[in-house]
Amino acid sequence: MGTVYAIANQKGGVGKTTTAVNVSACIAEAGYETLLVDIDPQANATVGLGVAKDLEPNVYDVLAGDAPAHEAIVPSAIERLHVLPASPDLAGATMELPRQAGSEGNLRDALAPIKDRFAYIVLDCPPSLGPLTVNALVAADRVIVPVQTEYYALEGLAGLLETLQLVQQQLNPRLTIAGMLLTMHDGRTRLSRDVEEDVRKHFPDLVFDTVIPRNVRISESPSHGVPVTHYDPHCVGADAYFELAKEVAARG
Ligand code: ADP
Ligand code: MG
Repeated sequence: MGTVYAIANQKGGVGKTTTAVNVSACIAEAGYETLLVDIDPQANATVGLGVAKDLEPNVYDVLAGDAPAHEAIVPSAIERLHVLPASPDLAGATMELPRQAGSEGNLRDALAPIKDRFAYIVLDCPPSLGPLTVNALVAADRVIVPVQTEYYALEGLAGLLETLQLVQQQLNPRLTIAGMLLTMHDGRTRLSRDVEEDVRKHFPDLVFDTVIPRNVRISESPSHGVPVTHYDPHCVGADAYFELAKEVAARG
């Protein structure tokens, strides 16, 4: 039965999609059948894995109950890595889901029939704590919280942890935090070092040992439709995501 990881933080631009794409790729490379589910209307993970964002059916149809998940899943260019793609239509789900009682469980229920086909399922969340992210948290076993190593890094994290706790109490008792992940770290700057120390002090035991460095190869790879681990397998960014995948597996 696949373990489901949600990659969540209501802030945009903190490295959620980058982490979802690259951790999925590392796990697939390690030999596991892996599914990346893109539930962000921006569809950046979909496009970043070389998949079109106008495929039918897509995750919108799956969430609405109009198509079974297995019909929407497509292969990526990476062996063993499959994608349940997003489309811009998904923005509509933000309005439609709350009108339907019990819709928080739609993604969980849609993934149930295919869960045993994959060792890992990774959910890339949109930058909000709205109905799409709640669906991901209800479907997930564990959450990875990317935190950009920047001034204001801690801002919003208390609210996010509160939401995780509420979901755990009311909707999904299985849910646990896999860890917080420091991203876009620049070891040459005092700021990055200070922020890292601060975040580790505030959340002892919760922060992954692995830190993702700021690395231009990471930001270039999406435009080639592949993870950084394939774009430049020996760069520091790829190394860091391989390390993270090992740490995630070890903590699991
Ligand atoms: P989110 O999904 O949280 O909005 P993204 O993963 O899309 O964030 O990252 C935001 C931007 O930062 C993207 O342009 C991405 O390529 C870039 N980026 C993410 N992580 C890194 C990194 N470690 N080094 C350099 N650029 C990065
Ligand atoms: Mg994103």
